[in-house]
Amino acid sequence: DYQLKGKVAIVTGGVSGIGLAVAELLADSGAAVAVWDLKADAVEKTAEALRKKGVKSIGIALNVTDEHAVEAAVKQTVEELGGLDIAVNNAGIGGPSAASGDYPVEGWKNVIDVNLNSVFLCQRAQIQAMRSAGKGGSIINMASILGQVGFGNSSAYAAAKHGVVGLTQTAAWEHAADKIRINAVGPGFIATPLLDKMDPKVKQALESKHALGRLGTPDEVAALVAWLASADASFATGTYYAIDGGYLAQ
Ligand code: NAD
Repeated sequence: DYQLKGKVAIVTGGVSGIGLAVAELLADSGAAVAVWDLKADAVEKTAEALRKKGVKSIGIALNVTDEHAVEAAVKQTVEELGGLDIAVNNAGIGGPSAASGDYPVEGWKNVIDVNLNSVFLCQRAQIQAMRSAGKGGSIINMASILGQVGFGNSSAYAAAKHGVVGLTQTAAWEHAADKIRINAVGPGFIATPLLDKMDPKVKQALESKHALGRLGTPDEVAALVAWLASADASFATGTYYAIDGGYLAQ
């Protein structure tokens, strides 16, 4: 229990994988949770399941790349759940697999839009809501180990995640005076539906790139996110937090 009773949280991409585990852990810690995702049926079902844990929860179906939809969703969250204290900008996609010299241009633009521009748009609207309430807050942006190093055939993904880290570091300085802490979380490879399309042989080879010799679980990432959301992390801002089973250690 991360002691989040009375807090209101947004989790984008909150119906699957890491986002779902985060939404569940924040709710288990007492927070009211707005679940944002593309999938309309799933956001309703997830919110209903969270309400059964005894917290307030709403589902909002939207595309996080849509500036106006994001602004409306922040407004709806604040009105229906009574404020905004925590935001986890987690929605993301893998994108095409191709070398940079052959990378499809439309695919590049889409990955940058979903994995980087959306974090800027969501964070922008969330900061404005937190600032006007005057109580501060905690924003956690989902980066990746590929926000620190490269990875073959994933240039758009790696560029977007490096961008998320730079945006996070900059925004943390800019909004510290507003009492808003902003951090990035960098998971290693985590067993979620995002990896479903990956060749099982490639997945197996990836396990040995982690010192712990396995992929991570969504719950292992959620624990770090919930800590960053909590008052225990009061001195944490502007940092990239690896949760990668040792991937970046050698
Ligand atoms: P996932 O596919 O299980 O979940 C992603 C969710 O985001 C889905 O529910 C999807 O519908 C939603 N989404 C995608 N595009 C959206 C959009 N435009 N608008 C609204 N919602 C949208 O993936 P996951 O593995 O849980 O990934 C979550 C985050 O963690 C992503 O940012 C991903 O890049 C990052 N990450 C994942 C891994 C991994 O190995 N799985 C590693 C490092 C970082």
